[in-house]
Amino acid sequence: RVRLRFGPSPTGFLHLGGLRTALYNYIFAKKHGGTFILRIEDTDQSRLVPGAAESIEDVLEWAGIPPDESPKRGGSYGPYKQSERLDLYLKATETLLVKNAAYYCFCSPQRLEMLKKEALRMRQTPKYDNRCRHLTQTQVEERLAQGCPRVIRFRLEEGAAPFEDLVYGLNRLDPASVEGDPVILKADGFPTYHLANVVDDHHMKISHVLRGTEWLTSTAKHLLMYKAFGWDPPAFAHLPLLLNKDGSKLSKRQGDLFIQNFSQNGVLPEALLDIVTNCGSGFSGNRLGRMLEELISEFDVTKITTHSALLDLDKLPEFNRMHLLQRIECANSRQQLVTELQTMVEKEFGDKLMDSESLCTDYVERVLLHRKGHITHLQELVSPNYSYLWFRPVVSHEQMLNLSTEGEKICHVVMRFFQTWSNRSVSPAELNNELRALQTQFTSTKYNVMMKVLRLALSGKQQGPSVAEMMLALGPKEVCKRLQQAVI
Ligand code: GLU
Repeated sequence: RVRLRFGPSPTGFLHLGGLRTALYNYIFAKKHGGTFILRIEDTDQSRLVPGAAESIEDVLEWAGIPPDESPKRGGSYGPYKQSERLDLYLKATETLLVKNAAYYCFCSPQRLEMLKKEALRMRQTPKYDNRCRHLTQTQVEERLAQGCPRVIRFRLEEGAAPFEDLVYGLNRLDPASVEGDPVILKADGFPTYHLANVVDDHHMKISHVLRGTEWLTSTAKHLLMYKAFGWDPPAFAHLPLLLNKDGSKLSKRQGDLFIQNFSQNGVLPEALLDIVTNCGSGFSGNRLGRMLEELISEFDVTKITTHSALLDLDKLPEFNRMHLLQRIECANSRQQLVTELQTMVEKEFGDKLMDSESLCTDYVERVLLHRKGHITHLQELVSPNYSYLWFRPVVSHEQMLNLSTEGEKICHVVMRFFQTWSNRSVSPAELNNELRALQTQFTSTKYNVMMKVLRLALSGKQQGPSVAEMMLALGPKEVCKRLQQAVI
């Protein structure tokens, strides 16, 4: 059975880098008919951010990649928060102590600090010198009896076997030659990342670990732990870095990378999923506008390369425009957008609305269909540029006459034209041709002046979308009402 997990630490809200890792895990699991698990890795109690764990799960749901097993949904391998699995880690630590693969360490923080300073002075990477490995059984018992503060460390065995990473290939890291023995159980009784991660991946029957490349060196350590426990390890695949387009680090502190920030600004989840996979590897193509189902079918873990993915957020509006267009074109998702837009319009314009018709479903739907491909966010439709859609302009006679002495005549001619319109469906270009024909046939005003008159009568503005587009969005009935109002 294919089982993958996303294991974020709730030390902050989910950002784009985290969403990308979750997405690859989701895609990998679904590609193979497997299970996607959310496990909250909250073992560092000092760095917890209240509400972060819950919000991570909400964001995955919003993004359309909900976990099959998680703290909220439960599952057969729970609990899914590490802070609720402490017994398991204690038992595992006992096992390692009995096997002599772990040991008590009583070194004081002062001593560790001194080791660190000394190493830095010698321009070496600080590492624990494994002193407590050599304590005798009696020394350990004495100190435990005295209640001395202690942690438990894992004994890194030398000469680790090379391992195969599905992305990075063969790895020959030998942690014991570069690092001191890592702490696995802290003084507060909580495990560290390494122990909890290995124990949980084993007990949750994780088949593939897919995570950021920053964890690649930890994997060598984890494999030594699997060996010490006598457990079969999962397969490992590490994702290359996600960087800004200039190659700089994508910082979590760039507040604008938080997913909530995107969602609050009208970015569609499918646009985010598309942009983070589009700049990365692992798929047979990288066409803009891919939906999740296509990502799943085009995914192949062997196609993930070790090149960093360079994210160009300047392209996000383009991705969003594309996905908004796709949502508008699909009848089901369009209904949802209609409802959202109705709520936005009501909120934005409320009592200024032209009449109940401007909120009716048919009208709002037509507006959407006519503006698709032109807007990047739904919110744009309630911006001042588009206010003409929702309330009628007040146009004075004088304003009209300033543009053309034939102002009234133009309105009448066009009104008559639309009165006999009867649900025809034409493109803006075709409508333009028809308007041009009316101009030559019935007026002596220049075409562009006629357009200015119509624009004013329809929107009260001098600029905006083309007149034909505006007319098609408003619909013949509303066009006639406005032209009528302009000539009264
Ligand atoms: N808790 C780790 C993180 O915050 C998870 C790493 C892993 O997936 O093993 O990224």
